[in-house]
Amino acid sequence: MALWQCEKCGQEKEGRCKPRKCPECGDQGQFVKKVDAPAAGGCGAKK
Ligand SMILES: [Zn+2]
Repeated sequence: MALWQCEKCGQEKEGRCKPRKCPECGDQGQFVKKVDAPAAGGCGAKK
């Protein structure tokens, strides 16, 4: 799992994939990855 944070409102969300939409402010495509998952996989990871 990686931790994503909304650049707009600061809402944090855990997930393998980048969230499409912020559950807090409803903005789209504003998420930045805060913490990368060591054991990635899924979400189109090329490994
Ligand atoms: Zn937000």
